[in-house]
Amino acid sequence: MKNTNPSDGGSRIRVPLLDVVNGNRPLRDEILEAITQVVDSGWFLHGPDCRQLEADVARHCDVSSAISCASGSDALLLAIMALGIGPGDEVILPSFTFFATASCIWRVGARPVFVDIDPETYNLKPDCVEAAITRATRAIIPVHLFGQCAEMDRIVQIAESHDLFVIEDAAQAIGAGYQQRPAGAWGTVGCFSFYPTKNLGGMGDGGMLTTNDSDLADRLRLYASHGMKPRYYHQVVGINSRLDSMQAAALRVKMKHLDAWNQQRGDNAARYGQLLKQAGLDSWVTLPKVADHQDHVWNQYTIRVPDGHRDKLRVFLAEADIGTEIYYPVPLHLQECFQSLGYHSGSLPETEAASKEVLSLPIFPELCAAQQEAVVRAIGQYRQQSARSAA
Ligand SMILES: *Cc1c(COP(=O)(O)O)cnc(C)c1O
Repeated sequence: MKNTNPSDGGSRIRVPLLDVVNGNRPLRDEILEAITQVVDSGWFLHGPDCRQLEADVARHCDVSSAISCASGSDALLLAIMALGIGPGDEVILPSFTFFATASCIWRVGARPVFVDIDPETYNLKPDCVEAAITRATRAIIPVHLFGQCAEMDRIVQIAESHDLFVIEDAAQAIGAGYQQRPAGAWGTVGCFSFYPTKNLGGMGDGGMLTTNDSDLADRLRLYASHGMKPRYYHQVVGINSRLDSMQAAALRVKMKHLDAWNQQRGDNAARYGQLLKQAGLDSWVTLPKVADHQDHVWNQYTIRVPDGHRDKLRVFLAEADIGTEIYYPVPLHLQECFQSLGYHSGSLPETEAASKEVLSLPIFPELCAAQQEAVVRAIGQYRQQSARSAA
């Protein structure tokens, strides 16, 4: 018997956190054809697809140059290296982010200076940035977390008045904008990732840098190719970081759909908002806030769950076949590897509170209304059950 009605009492609807196979399926033939052409050309690195993807991203981000590399993590490291940041330098960044935002700083011997976030947007707070500036500060790395830009007008203003570089970690924010200007076009340099869970995800690793400074673009390319120019003459000690042509070919096929997918993510976010309000759950969990002048691209839909319920709700949802994730359970300033920096619990109160309460729900473009209803229904069931057991 075929049972396709998800609201039918007997069937249970599965809601994965992410569904990349389903997402790629409509493009399968086109992607395979693009990859086949690379196979047949024998041009596996720096092929025409890499150059073309760079041009596509540069146009999309409204910058003069885009430089491909092997991952978002490498993009950040290359930015730091090409800007000459090293021992004795400090770089200001949020602690509420993925590890790669900080490891690039550490790796070159500079010091990560973690600052607190705005509890509503989870993005670093310009006032905290300003307060953390010292004579050793060289750069600020704002992260456009979950697909929403940091307050870039103020951050750029602060950077300019203190002569600092701005490195945008836009790994989660391709296609996002603030005050009509795209992510990746605000700072000295922008860093993007094509990790499969990002809004433009490859079939493996990949990354991209954006800049309006053509000299910096040349330096980024130099550092990404062992500092070698011309061949076998090394001007600086760089790394080997290349996007391969097969990734670029697949990404070019997918890039044509990026705006539509971002739109679908936005529609899904709006629907979660309606459903959670209809169920009266918006007075219990905190819904994500979209700040003024933001074009949010919803890499994540992240709610806050109060009073120690977050982890229990997550288990409850998992038992109902609903995937969720915690971005991020341990802020970077409290990670074991950064102990020597001297932070402790209590150093960044908003960051630490967020890490205990955030929960990201499935938001991928192909998510359907019935799946979203199932998610909200399950949250409601947990709420009722926990209220009963408290009574
Ligand atoms: C994914 C991500 C990165 C790293 O990108 P990779 O391509 O996985 O190396 C860096 N910063 C943030 C905020 C990310 O989400």
